[in-house]
Amino acid sequence: MTSCALDIRELSRVFDGESRPTYVSLYSDGTDPRFIHRRRQAIRSALPSHLRENFQQTMQEVTRYLNDHGSRNVALFASAAHDFFKAVSLTDAPPNLLVVDSSPYIRPLAALDDQWEGFTLVLMNTHHAKIYSVACSDIAREKELSREVMNKHKKGGMSQARFQRLRRGSIHHFYQDLRGALPAPGSQKIILAGPGEAKHQFLHHLSPPLQENVVALIDAPMDGEQELWEDSIHAMREHGQEVKGRLLDQLKKEILTDGLAAYGVSEVTRATRNGQVEVLFVERGHRQRGWLCERCQRLGTGTAPSCPTCGKPVTTVDVLEEIMEFAQRTGAPVTFVDDDFVGQMGHVAALLRYRTENTGEAVA
Ligand SMILES: [Zn+2]
Repeated sequence: MTSCALDIRELSRVFDGESRPTYVSLYSDGTDPRFIHRRRQAIRSALPSHLRENFQQTMQEVTRYLNDHGSRNVALFASAAHDFFKAVSLTDAPPNLLVVDSSPYIRPLAALDDQWEGFTLVLMNTHHAKIYSVACSDIAREKELSREVMNKHKKGGMSQARFQRLRRGSIHHFYQDLRGALPAPGSQKIILAGPGEAKHQFLHHLSPPLQENVVALIDAPMDGEQELWEDSIHAMREHGQEVKGRLLDQLKKEILTDGLAAYGVSEVTRATRNGQVEVLFVERGHRQRGWLCERCQRLGTGTAPSCPTCGKPVTTVDVLEEIMEFAQRTGAPVTFVDDDFVGQMGHVAALLRYRTENTGEAVA
């Protein structure tokens, strides 16, 4: 799982137990310093007076963080009342947003994570490799491997044939070491980059399951990291589009045969609660007004004066955001879809791990 997916999962478990709007979520690309000020004024005016103190204190912490770390490509989630503060630095620009709600607003973070999954990047030649782990919130160099390989045939007793044999042997050993440093088959995707033929040779050294993890081979100089990030992210985006297309085809097939799929708010909410969801599909940009009781986690569409189960106040929510949070808590990935199809299916749909009879709690 990428570090971004871990952040989302952690955030999806955080909420105000009394459904009060006590959590501030800020997304900033750093290009508009005034938007925070403008939103801050508007929110302060719109909040009930007993919650303004928490909002002011929370915003002081947020401002302190921005003063120290800058406001470029960052997502902050904070609540003074709950002594909660989390910062996620982003590699892509988010939409500028300042939101106050009863839980952290994770949808933009999930949308960024959906652009491309985390991957391992290997920049290599025949005797040297730099291995990077890339996720939505950071790029970390994990390891550097190298091995002495004879590159020149020195004059002396050694025959050309013997020299070539030894050289091939030492490259082979280097590839073996490098193979041992890669993530396990089926976990993270891999991009092999570097000058010349080494990356192709190395690909043939991998077992078939590991070869399947390799999504791209990119020509790059050993010191060309900066450009390589962009090429790699582009390759991962293309790979992500392919995977998304295949998942959508599978969803359509399951719906046609009334198989392992659910669609529409009510059915998908139930499946998500039961932990049945394998992949969640959400129509990008669509919002649907609903309510949530944070106390019993009951969710409904439309409006409700109070929770029908416990009678406590409910909070007004975007139903799709809440379904996404339920899904994230069970580790199900969220896929944002532009295709009209998911819109026609009730704006949300899911591939299921298994099916049950409809015994779950109904959604109001
Ligand atoms: Zn309730």
